Amino acid sequence: MKRVSFADLKAVENLRPAGYRDAIVSAAKFRTGKYAWIADEDWSVLAARFGAPVEPSSEPSMAQMAGNLTGALMEWAAAGFPVAAQDVVQRRREACQACRLWDADARAGMGKCGSPKCGCTGIKWWLATSVCPERKWV
Ligand code: SF4
Repeated sequence: MKRVSFADLKAVENLRPAGYRDAIVSAAKFRTGKYAWIADEDWSVLAARFGAPVEPSSEPSMAQMAGNLTGALMEWAAAGFPVAAQDVVQRRREACQACRLWDADARAGMGKCGSPKCGCTGIKWWLATSVCPERKWV
């Protein structure tokens, strides 16, 4: 499952073919005020048709990180607090450890993602609803 931010959709709307936003929204399996979740098979079709989303590359501010964390926890709560399976956590951990944005020494050794849409620690690996903001894992 892929998570798409409506803020991202708005940011790239003018750079994509007509119908991009509507196609994403229509394909969503479920939505909140900020995000839409798209099944992997639908995502592949959309990505082939419209191209991959554009991602900003600057570090997140403290306010952004707080907002990102709050949003992630609210989504997790709305889904019923599902915990990821051990193999999923391991796959996510390995992806982060190989990522240029991962700072393993930050937050007293808990690590930190440097994506402006994240800033979370490895705790995020355990939330089943989490996705990598750079689309390196789901
Ligand atoms: S969550 Fe994604 S972007 Fe962030 S460190 Fe992990 S792999 Fe990299």
